Amino acid sequence: MGTSRSFYRQLLTTYLRPLQRQVLWLALTLLGSIGLQVLNPQLLRYFIDAAVAAAPQRVLGLVALGFVAIALVRHGLAIAATYFGETIAWSATNTLRLDLARHTLNLDLAFHKAHTPGELIERVDGDVDALSRFFSQFVLQVVGNGLLVVGVLAVLWWEDWRAGLGLSLFALVALGVLARLQALAVAPWRTYRQISAEFYSFVAEYLSGLEDIRANGAVGYVMHRFYRILRRWLAVFHRARFTSTLLWGSTVGLFTMGNAIALALGAYLWNRNAITIGTVYLLFYYATLLQDPIERIREELEQFQQAAASLQRVQDLLSHRSQLRPGGQAVLPTGPLSVKFDGVWFGYGEKGVDGWMGGWVDGSDSSTRPPIHSSTLQNLTLHLPPGQVLGLLGRTGSGKSTLARLLLRLYDIQRGEIRLGGVDIAQLPQAALPHHVGFVTQDVQIFQTTVRNNLTFFNAHIADPTILQTLDDLGLLPWLEGLPQGLDTELGADSGGLSAGQAQLLAFARVFLKNPGLVVLDEASSRLDPLTEQLIERAVDRLLENRTGIIIAHRLKTVERADQILILEKGQAVEYGDRSALAQDPQSRFARLLRAGALLPLG
Ligand code: ADP
Repeated sequence: MGTSRSFYRQLLTTYLRPLQRQVLWLALTLLGSIGLQVLNPQLLRYFIDAAVAAAPQRVLGLVALGFVAIALVRHGLAIAATYFGETIAWSATNTLRLDLARHTLNLDLAFHKAHTPGELIERVDGDVDALSRFFSQFVLQVVGNGLLVVGVLAVLWWEDWRAGLGLSLFALVALGVLARLQALAVAPWRTYRQISAEFYSFVAEYLSGLEDIRANGAVGYVMHRFYRILRRWLAVFHRARFTSTLLWGSTVGLFTMGNAIALALGAYLWNRNAITIGTVYLLFYYATLLQDPIERIREELEQFQQAAASLQRVQDLLSHRSQLRPGGQAVLPTGPLSVKFDGVWFGYGEKGVDGWMGGWVDGSDSSTRPPIHSSTLQNLTLHLPPGQVLGLLGRTGSGKSTLARLLLRLYDIQRGEIRLGGVDIAQLPQAALPHHVGFVTQDVQIFQTTVRNNLTFFNAHIADPTILQTLDDLGLLPWLEGLPQGLDTELGADSGGLSAGQAQLLAFARVFLKNPGLVVLDEASSRLDPLTEQLIERAVDRLLENRTGIIIAHRLKTVERADQILILEKGQAVEYGDRSALAQDPQSRFARLLRAGALLPLG
């Protein structure tokens, strides 16, 4: 799919419309400075002819002053044009960056799993950067410099048709030859940018996995790959640089020929007394003046070609739709929420329900259905009344986290229905679920901002006393008091010295402050010190007060809180029921686990 012209137009109108005034100023200053470039040589010609004709000193002085004044104004206009161009470029690209970032954040989890953060940064920042000239300069520079070439040639035709003809032919040939040579340089530079993107996503990937790489002794392998990319990069860079140098050399050669043509024409016409010595200088000056706009137009076209590749990628990203079906307008009740799974089927990478992704549903052609064993969750049914707690057990990979993700609608299910508080979650607005479902994972992300923002997720409506009370309830106050600036302390990448248990308590605090009707808790499987464990136990009790809870449990003690137990195996519910009933049934898996005295073989 090529980038359509309508997309260029759409981008320009969307992002330049709010900047109309600046665009107008840019056009005026740019065209003004171009116009003055054509005017100034006329003064020079007049000066030379007047000097040859021994005109009075005063006249010459005035013409010289006029020349200097016009040159100054022209430079002033050029500075203003640069200012407006930069303002437009930054404003337009920043808005586009914002739109792309917002769009990307709203895409489903499957998209984010398939694209590395480095790649997305390159899309949202690198590609948009390449577009800044397109927004601020491209049209105006091409039109403006095109006008300058036409203006110069028109004056030349006006002065003498032979001069006009000679230099028009030169301009045409120069533009044609340069455009052709330029095409040669495009492919090497494109390869160069590709390898550059590959290199940065490689670096991002390995920096994020630094600890594992060191721990597993993979440094040698990583360095080998690093050198291999660099070696490829260098060769491509040499090729690209060489074509650019070739282009530069040809440009210089061509323009020297232009000067020679102008001088030869001038000498010929002067010899025949067709023009004055001032006009000979004028011809030479205009011939040199032609070089700049021709070079500029070529440059703009080159930049445009580079921008076209970026535009294509931006368009691809913007047209990527979330695989999640748009939600409805349903509203969830407040208070504890009931949870109901009704014949739920789900597989990663499978198509959605009701043909939204051209997928498979009951009644669709059965030959297009994926084999049932590929589904991560299969025919799952459960009903948890409001305020009750479900203990979720199963080996690693059995689908426990997947079940939790489905409750937050990070993915859409393929068949069946999930209801919260009696409402089908597919009918809820997409932004609504996180307010009603609190999810505490083992992997607690701490952001590089203040403690307050880390707890409230930038919700300014939560007052400090509420935050302090919550921290006190969770036993985190001593930790806070140890921080230099209390809630205003910036937490760094090292998590502000939080232990794993404390990080989990911090995640609990987030949930308390959000006050959802359903809490999903992936219990920390690592060993905690007895004091932290005690704090966590207490916190979990409080967290489950007057809320529905689903706990991915790794400890027997946690399971004791559960009203219901669900044991998953390879995505299927192999046991589901009332905890006390299952505990009393000696044949049940749960009772066997209790007898064995540990859940860890499952976790
Ligand atoms: P558990 O939480 O019980 O350890 P998960 O729900 O994480 O299990 O995983 C269930 C299955 O789904 C596993 O086979 C796992 O490989 C697969 N899986 C988990 N996440 C993804 C994903 N993002 N994309 C594809 N498959 C996944």
